[in-house]
Amino acid sequence: MPLWFVRGLRRGVVTTRYPARPDSSAAALPTPPAFRPQALTRELADRLCLVCPSRALTRSGDVLVFDAGACTACGRCQEAAPEAVTPSGEFELAATDRGHLVKRIPLLGEGDS
Ligand code: SF4
Repeated sequence: MPLWFVRGLRRGVVTTRYPARPDSSAAALPTPPAFRPQALTRELADRLCLVCPSRALTRSGDVLVFDAGACTACGRCQEAAPEAVTPSGEFELAATDRGHLVKRIPLLGEGDS
């Protein structure tokens, strides 16, 4: 029987706080992207879709569709368009519905291109 299980039974602990303590290494973890709609044009959105190896990005008309559940946080989209894409800093994703991981980002930069 695993030691952690026995220890939990003795202490009466059913759950533990997560994280147990701040982890400074979390700041260095790659995170999924965050998008700046004002900097996104159709052309740029199409370029981002092409560089994404996991097909987490698609364009539907004037909307960039980002599937956070498919994103591997590889950073290629951030490298391709640093003016429009930044690291989100969020690496803990949880959802009760798969559809909640799909974000629709309006392309508001059309007038600038
Ligand atoms: S970080 Fe990588 S996998 Fe995620 S959306 Fe950008 S290119 Fe796609």
